[in-house]
Amino acid sequence: MSTRPESTISSATERLTGVVDLLKNVLAEMEVPSTLHEPLFDGNELKYVTECIETGWVSSVGSFVDRFESMMAEITGAGRAVAIVNGTAALQLALKIVGVQVNDEVLVPALTFIATANAVTYCGAVPHFVDSEYTTLGIDCKKLESYLKEIARVEPDGAYNRLTGRRIRAVLVMHTFGHPVDMDALLEVCAAYRLEVVEDAAEALGSYYKGKHAGTLGRIGAFSFNGNKIVTTGGGGCLVFNNEEDRRLAKHLSTTARRPHRWEYFHDAVGFNFRMPNLNAALGCAQLESLPTFLSRKRELANCYRQKFSQVSGVSFVDEPSFGRSNWWLNAILLDNELAAHRDELLDLTNSSGVMTRPVWTLMHRLPMYENCPRMDLSVAIDLEQRIVNIPSSVSRSPLKKGLTLPS
Ligand SMILES: *Cc1c(COP(=O)(O)O)cnc(C)c1O
Repeated sequence: MSTRPESTISSATERLTGVVDLLKNVLAEMEVPSTLHEPLFDGNELKYVTECIETGWVSSVGSFVDRFESMMAEITGAGRAVAIVNGTAALQLALKIVGVQVNDEVLVPALTFIATANAVTYCGAVPHFVDSEYTTLGIDCKKLESYLKEIARVEPDGAYNRLTGRRIRAVLVMHTFGHPVDMDALLEVCAAYRLEVVEDAAEALGSYYKGKHAGTLGRIGAFSFNGNKIVTTGGGGCLVFNNEEDRRLAKHLSTTARRPHRWEYFHDAVGFNFRMPNLNAALGCAQLESLPTFLSRKRELANCYRQKFSQVSGVSFVDEPSFGRSNWWLNAILLDNELAAHRDELLDLTNSSGVMTRPVWTLMHRLPMYENCPRMDLSVAIDLEQRIVNIPSSVSRSPLKKGLTLPS
């Protein structure tokens, strides 16, 4: 019916309407909720939580906490895990354990959820914002390396910021939406500048970098089990460790640093009440049992999005990097420059027609409490901030096919 020549690109508004229709079709076809991410409880959740209530073991001691830790140790392959009250507290504790001190600087991506930067601040340290790259949406390691060459000075005890005089102690690397960062490149830079590596793997349970689970490549990895994550404990977090000493310290500090004794209350440090309650761990054990199924179904959804978006001009689907496997926690599309100018129109169009979408987080250096923190050139993060739109990503509700093969 159109009288326009075929070469004419449809108007931005027409393309936006096309995106809305595409999303609706995929969600209907895959039987996925139209919210951004909602939990699914179709396993042993009720059974395990009921067991807590019936036995009275709901609080900070109980067998589900131990079981949850064993499951996390095994799933990640780290062999060592400590359950924590939430992901933010897990990050704070991890930074403390690797030695972050008051007035240190910690390198964090500007493109991240607020918890990453806040965890640094809770330690009395200063977040120092670094840029991201287009493939993983995570830290650009090459750019970080040339930046450190310019601003850092390596002394026998570690790296210092030449401009501020402060010690640069660590990098807190975040795996955006579950897509793993190029960790080999990062670890190389960190070794050269003697920086500790903590992974904010809050979004990356079930993600792998070259066959290794996200969160196990740095010294400590932190996970979140908030209600919107791939599996949930209601609220919760977990740390995984590469060495036993760190694990022991984390357990000790997260349980008020009380020396084990039958009746004595003796605390040998200013610890934290960061322990995950048994009630939450019970929910978590049931959820972790479903993780392989969730991963497989989220991959099916991502495959469907990828295929459909490949036919839409001006929009690209954010894919997993070649060197890793994503858990596909939160799907995202990247608008081209022309459509990016209409981003809010797309957000309005989708949300008012019942399909939930969101822009990415406001970059950390724009927030009032972080606007004076040190930062490198953030041009890629700034570009991404305008162009990323998150789209519905929950686990499909359709009945499981028998004989489904799970991803290895
Ligand atoms: C969810 C999240 C956290 C924090 O987890 P909570 O359990 O909500 O405290 C930290 N970092 C990132 C990147 C997250 O997405």
